[in-house]
Amino acid sequence: MESNNDHTFAACLKCHAINRVLHQYVPQAVCFNCQSPIKFKKLVSESTERNFKDLVQTSDLVLIAYFSTPSCMACKIFNSQFEKASIENLNLVFTKVNIQGEDPFAAFMEIKAYPCLILFKNGFEEKRHYGIMNDLSLKEFIQ
Ligand SMILES: [Zn+2]
Repeated sequence: MESNNDHTFAACLKCHAINRVLHQYVPQAVCFNCQSPIKFKKLVSESTERNFKDLVQTSDLVLIAYFSTPSCMACKIFNSQFEKASIENLNLVFTKVNIQGEDPFAAFMEIKAYPCLILFKNGFEEKRHYGIMNDLSLKEFIQ
């Protein structure tokens, strides 16, 4: 997919700083603040309750947040689709939010089921989807 964007955003899971990462540096990304490695799967970074809000507010790009838990079986199926979408849509920021043991946060975000996808524009929720999607419906959701 064509894109003129060259960067994404990711939270540091150690110090919670929000990093702007050029796509070319994703494989060896380290936090500007604490030098910890920032791990990506394709172009999907991981976020937590601690840094998710900052990530949404900092990103100057449309951000897709994928809320999941390690115990969610449907999420295991959906992971690879989400990761694939991240390299096909370089103009967006993809993050996976692990919400295991974060019940107050899940309640705050009003997440009723997993997987849950929420698309944010300019820091605000634009739309959300519950349940797994096929490639086509994911493509439509992203647009
Ligand atoms: Zn850091």
